[in-house]
Amino acid sequence: MPGRSEMVRRRVIPLSGVLTVVAAVAILLLPQAATRSAVAAPAPGANPTAQPDYEYVYRVANAVASADKLVSGDFDVMERRDGNDLFVLGTAADGPRLAKAGFSATVESARPAASWTPPKPRLSNDHLSPADVGETYYGGYHTVNAQYAHLDQAAAQHPDLATTVTYGQSWLKSQGRGGYDLRAICITKKQAGDCQLNPNSAKPRFFLMSQIHAREITTGDVSWHWVDYLVNGYGTDNTVKALLDSTELWVVPVVNPDGVDIVQQGGNSPKLQRKNADGDPARCTVSGGQLGVDLNRNNGSHWGGASTSTGVCNEVYRGPSQDSEVEDTALQKLFTQLWPARRGTGVGDPAPADTRGVMMTLHSDASLVLYPWGYDSTVHTGNDASLRAMAKQMGTITHYDYGQPGAVLYDASGTTDDWSYDKLGVASFTIEVGDETNGGCGGFLPPHSCQDSFFWPKMMPALVYAAQQAPAPYANH
Ligand SMILES: [Zn+2]
Repeated sequence: MPGRSEMVRRRVIPLSGVLTVVAAVAILLLPQAATRSAVAAPAPGANPTAQPDYEYVYRVANAVASADKLVSGDFDVMERRDGNDLFVLGTAADGPRLAKAGFSATVESARPAASWTPPKPRLSNDHLSPADVGETYYGGYHTVNAQYAHLDQAAAQHPDLATTVTYGQSWLKSQGRGGYDLRAICITKKQAGDCQLNPNSAKPRFFLMSQIHAREITTGDVSWHWVDYLVNGYGTDNTVKALLDSTELWVVPVVNPDGVDIVQQGGNSPKLQRKNADGDPARCTVSGGQLGVDLNRNNGSHWGGASTSTGVCNEVYRGPSQDSEVEDTALQKLFTQLWPARRGTGVGDPAPADTRGVMMTLHSDASLVLYPWGYDSTVHTGNDASLRAMAKQMGTITHYDYGQPGAVLYDASGTTDDWSYDKLGVASFTIEVGDETNGGCGGFLPPHSCQDSFFWPKMMPALVYAAQQAPAPYANH
C-alpha cells in the first residue's frame, strides 16, 4: 500500500492530466486541492483519528476467522488479506466502530474523498459515438462509453476478426432510467458459424469479464489491453494467430456499467462504488453504505451463504432473491448460449474430461488466482485436480498465490465463477489483479501508469495460458 506521501501526491498529480481537457474546472479546483494536500493523512499504523472527509483503509488484525462478523457489522471488507489480517474500507467513523465491535484496527492508508464534479456524467450509451473511445477519467481509465466505442472500433477495423454482441440491459436501462446496454465482443478468425449464440460451437471458447465490481478499475483496463492484443496481433504474432485460428475469445469489459458510471463520475477522485445501481440511494445514509446489489453475491449457486448480507446498503448485499439482478441473469443466459451444461448437480460431480471452455472473471486487488468452490473451501469440486493445476500455473506466471477463496482470502457465495462451474461445468477462475510487490500499484485506484508498466505485462501471459486451455481444460491436467 502507498504511504502518506504517495497518498497526498496522488491527489495532486492527476489534476495535471485534466488541465488539458477542462482547464477552467481544474484551475478552479487547484486552491482546494492545495488546501487538501496540506491536511495530513494519518500515518500508516496510527490509531484511527478523525479526518472526516477521508476514505480510509483499515488493517483489522486476526480477522479472517471473524469475516462474517465484519460483514454483518456492515463493514466494507476489501478483497485483500495479509496473513490473518483483513482490510476494511471506510470513513473516519469506522475506526471507532471497528473498535466498538471488538476488532483491533489500525489505519493502513487514507486518501481525500471525492470532492468535485467531473465534466461529463453520462449514465447512458444512447448517444455513443466513435469519438467516445478517447473518454477517460482519473488519468487514463476508460469510461463505459469509451469501452463500448472501443469494441465498435475493433469490429469496424477488423471485420474478419471481431463481432460485437449486445446481450442485455443494465438495471437502470431496464427501468427506463437511462443506463446502459450490456455488451460483449467475440474475437476469432471468423469461419462460417463462428461467434453465434450456440453452445455447440465449432471452436472452444475462452471468456474474460471485468468490472463486475465497478470500483475495481484495473480489471477493465486489462480487458481493454486484451482486446487490442488480440485484434492487433493476429497478423504479426504467432501466439495470437494460433489462438484466433482455434478459439473464440469473448470479452465483456464492463459487466456492471451502471456501477462504473458512478465510479467515473468521481473524475479524478473516483467514487468507490462496488455494486450495481438497483435501489434507492436515499436509503443508504449509513457510514460508507452504498445502494445496489453485489452482483458477485447474487447468483443462484449456494446463494445467501458465506460473505453475504441481507442489508440493502451492505457492500455484499445479496439481493432480495437469487438471480434478482438483470446484469447477472443476462450474463448467465449468455453463458448458457456459449457452453452446454456438462455437470451433474452434486457438489462433487465432475464435468467430463472432454468438457470445453474456460471462464475468467477479474477482480482486485488481492493478488490471487481463485477457483471453485467459493462458497466453502472445505468442499472440493469433482474437477479439483485440474482446476488446481491450472490455477497453480497462472499463479506461477503472475507471482500470485492460488487456492479456493476460503483457503487464501475468505469464503464467498453466489459468485460468477461458482455459478458457471456449478451449472455448466465450465472451468472457471477469478484472478484478483493486484500488486503483490507492494510497489505502488496496489489498491482500487492505482495510478494509470501502472496499467502499461505493471499489470498488463503480468496479466497477458496468464490470459494467454488460460485461453490456451479452452479446448480441454480437464483432459490435460
Ligand atoms: Zn471484486
